[in-house]
Amino acid sequence: MKAILIEKPGDTQTAAVTEVSEDQLPEGDVLVDVAYSTLNYKDALAITGAAPVVRRFPMVPGIDFSGTVAESSHPDFTPGDRVVLNGWGVGETHWGGLAERARVKGDWLVPLPEGLDTRQAAAIGTAGYTAMLCVLALERHGVTPEKGEIVVSGAAGGVGSVATALLAAKGYEVAAVTGRASEAEYLRGLGASSVIDRAELTGKLRPLAKERWAGGIDVAGSTVLANMISMMKYRGVVAACGLAAGMDLPASVAPFILRGVTLAGVDSVMCPKPDRLEAWSRLASDLDVGKLEEMVTELPFAEVIETAPKFLDGAVRGRIVVPVS
Ligand code: NDP
Repeated sequence: MKAILIEKPGDTQTAAVTEVSEDQLPEGDVLVDVAYSTLNYKDALAITGAAPVVRRFPMVPGIDFSGTVAESSHPDFTPGDRVVLNGWGVGETHWGGLAERARVKGDWLVPLPEGLDTRQAAAIGTAGYTAMLCVLALERHGVTPEKGEIVVSGAAGGVGSVATALLAAKGYEVAAVTGRASEAEYLRGLGASSVIDRAELTGKLRPLAKERWAGGIDVAGSTVLANMISMMKYRGVVAACGLAAGMDLPASVAPFILRGVTLAGVDSVMCPKPDRLEAWSRLASDLDVGKLEEMVTELPFAEVIETAPKFLDGAVRGRIVVPVS
């Protein structure tokens, strides 16, 4: 079967489209015919070797996929079931979705929710499911649309695009932050009520800046996240999930102790199954599939490797879906 294989024979890592035997697949109780995989920021890091995402070689990348169960000895799945998988170390320590078949633990799989097909599930992918986890985090901390505008960083990227569409669909006003002025129209099309230049969040940090937003979803980290926190309204909540700007957080405690601001961390990889099921059920009910389609670019399998570096330049819009078989 066809697969992308990352190898590291010496000090340097290589990635190539190749033929592998099904016998080489790792252990697992469910075999899935992969319909679609996707390209996420983390896949780009894995394929380019820009960060040590891959923990075991050789590795098939692809942190998520959707498809149909081919064989199963897991009690919850039978052949023909349509499933989606995100995270759990797939594409990092366990062979991932950029291959025609994947063998995984059934406990990692989510049955495709009613109303979504395998292409739409892949279009949502880890980025979209993480965006939903961020929205759920805001809701859990009591951020309702009446509280005020929500700021979303990296808005033209995968997590940011889905977060913008999800929030707008629920009646929130969304301030979409982007480094690409050319994407303003796209972001308004997804439902953003205002589009903000990223430069407004990369300036020198003031411990307490003017109160602007009731909540935030941040994919950037570093100065962007620190500024976002300092601009929260009283009792504002920021859901932080990414590091596109950096791993550091040069922030002040002032917003936490003087404004009661909450910083909610969001992890999609090891997120427990009940939360995943809730997120996928909400994605199926809340996300406008027309808007989802506006975010999608379909990328041929053969072009995945050459496209990966574009992610690291912040040049990718929305979500990339890769038809596999
Ligand atoms: P994308 O590459 O699709 O989007 C990232 C966006 O961030 C870019 O499109 C760009 O948007 C913006 N950006 C790029 N560079 C910078 C910078 N230096 N400063 C501020 N913004 C920047 O990636 P994803 O949406 O898939 O992922 C976003 C982040 O979230 C990544 O760091 C990823 O690792 C992380 N992530 C974490 C998960 C978790 O479980 N915690 C799960 C999924 C993703 P624009 O041009 O609009 O500004």
